Amino acid sequence: MILIMLGAPGTGKGTVASILSKELNIPAVSSGDIFRKAIQDKTELGQEVSSYIERGALVPDELTIKVIEARLNEPDLANGVILDGFPRTAAQAEELDSFLNKNNKKIDLAINLETPREELIERVVNRRICSNSECKTIFNLKLTPPKQDGVCDKCGSKLIQRKDDNEEVMNNRLDSYFKETAPIVDFYKEKGKLTTFEVSERIGVMGKDVAESLIEKLK
Ligand code: ADP
Ligand code: ZN
Repeated sequence: MILIMLGAPGTGKGTVASILSKELNIPAVSSGDIFRKAIQDKTELGQEVSSYIERGALVPDELTIKVIEARLNEPDLANGVILDGFPRTAAQAEELDSFLNKNNKKIDLAINLETPREELIERVVNRRICSNSECKTIFNLKLTPPKQDGVCDKCGSKLIQRKDDNEEVMNNRLDSYFKETAPIVDFYKEKGKLTTFEVSERIGVMGKDVAESLIEKLK
């Protein structure tokens, strides 16, 4: 099964992807995580992408596509993948389609999350992530705080804040989202592959609720 997560930064794509990944037993691949790991490991890729990520701009399509397609060719993804953060531009979406076609595969569903802009900024600024790369549990200081300050409930590792999770960079990320990524929602809608959820405190729906309602349908 091939699932795609769509939605602005902070909507809960990572939370939904990680719950679905566990419940459906399909690996989740986050383009942002791949780039952040490369930066942390100081690889050549990390050097190439860091300036884009730090200012909240998209990494160029050509490089992103090369990195993601190499990952998609790895054997652990032979039976399916949940893509979180890719595709993010029309060119990436077209390229993914032709890549999958060549491999006789197709997308099953694009899961689109929508949240009011004010809530997104508030959420991202309060987001803390488990630093253990095997865990990566996401907390929110206001909505889902850890039991102990700065410590992951699940594995006891230190919680960290992403460098780009501040209001200024977040505004740039939202601008690139609405300009470059939002249009691909229609690309999947026209193919009849889109399902949209509103994720918002206002209506009491968070990422975990979306994941729960999807699990039964997808199993
Ligand atoms: P979020 O959805 O919260 O912004 P991600 O972890 O998905 O976070 O992405 C972090 C950053 O990595 C983005 O702001 C962008 O710079 C880069 N990035 C991730 N995925 C892509 C992509 N598919 N195309 C271009 N840049 C990307
Ligand atoms: Zn943890």
